[in-house]
Amino acid sequence: SRREGFSSIPNVKWEDIGGLDLIRQEFERYIVRRIKYPDDYKEFGVDLETGFLLYGPPGCGKTLIAKAVANEAGANFIHIQGPELLNKYVGESELAVRTLFSRARTCSPCILFFDEVDALTTKRGKEGGWIVERLLNQLLVELDGADQRQGVFVIGATNRPEVMDRAVLRPGRLGKLLYVPLPSSNERGLILKALARKKPIDVNVDLCAIGRMEACENLSGADLAALMNEAALAAAEEKSASTERTSDALTIKLSHFETALTKISPS
Ligand code: ATP
Repeated sequence: SRREGFSSIPNVKWEDIGGLDLIRQEFERYIVRRIKYPDDYKEFGVDLETGFLLYGPPGCGKTLIAKAVANEAGANFIHIQGPELLNKYVGESELAVRTLFSRARTCSPCILFFDEVDALTTKRGKEGGWIVERLLNQLLVELDGADQRQGVFVIGATNRPEVMDRAVLRPGRLGKLLYVPLPSSNERGLILKALARKKPIDVNVDLCAIGRMEACENLSGADLAALMNEAALAAAEEKSASTERTSDALTIKLSHFETALTKISPS
C-alpha cells in the first residue's frame, strides 16, 4: 500500500504498460534522459517543459505511465490525490502544497504526481471556491518557481481537462499536454500481453486476437485488467473444483477468457 504524500521509487516498468508508445517517447525525451544525463542538458542550456498534464478517459494508464517514468529514471515518486488537499482547514491546503514541493526538492530527482488535478483548479460553491482559489494560487507560485526546483517534474492527471483553470496549463506550469486515449484494437492486445507477463497463459491463447474481438470494443486498460483477473479466477475455480487436479487446468485458457468476456463491459 502506498503512503500518502511520501516518496519512493515505483516498481512499474515500461513492460507493464501496453501501447502508449508516443507518450512514452515524449517522457523519455522530456524527463528520463534529463534526469539520467543532467550535465548534457546543462551544457547546451536546454530549456524544456517540466510540467505535464495527462488527460483522457479513466483507467487508460495515466497513473501507470507516471510511475513508469519515475522507475525508468530512477527518480522518487510522490503520489497526491488532488481532492485530498482540499479536505483541510483554511490555510492548511496552501501549507500542504508548499510542503509537498519542498519535500519533492529534498528527494530530487522526483516526480510529483497530482491525480485528479482538476479538483485543485475548479470552483465549486462559494466557500469551496475561495479555498480552491488560494490553493490554486499557491500551486501557481510553486510551478512558477521552476528554476529553483531542479530535478522536480510535475505530472497532473485528469479526466476533465475542460473544467480546469487555463492559468495552470500555460507554458512553464503544466505546459505540456498529453492525451491518453482509449486503446485501439491492436493496443488492447498489447495491454493484455503486458497484463499477462506474470500469469500462466496457455500457449494456445492468442491475446492479440482476443484484443481484436468485438466483445473487447471500447474496453479501457482498467477493464482489460478486470478481464484478465476474471479469466484467472475462472481458471483457478476450475482447478479447485476439479477432483483429479491434473496439470491440465494449470494455465489460463481461451475458455476462461470466453467466460470472463461475458462478465466484463466498458466501464
Ligand atoms: P484514472 O483516471 O481512473 O485515475 P488512470 O488513467 O490513471 O485512471 P491507471 O490507474 O493507470 O489509469 O490504470 C488502472 C489500471 O488499469 C492499472 O493498474 C492497470 O492494471 C490497468 N491499465 C490501464 N491502462 C493500462 C495500459 N496501458 N497497460 C497496462 N495496464 C493498464
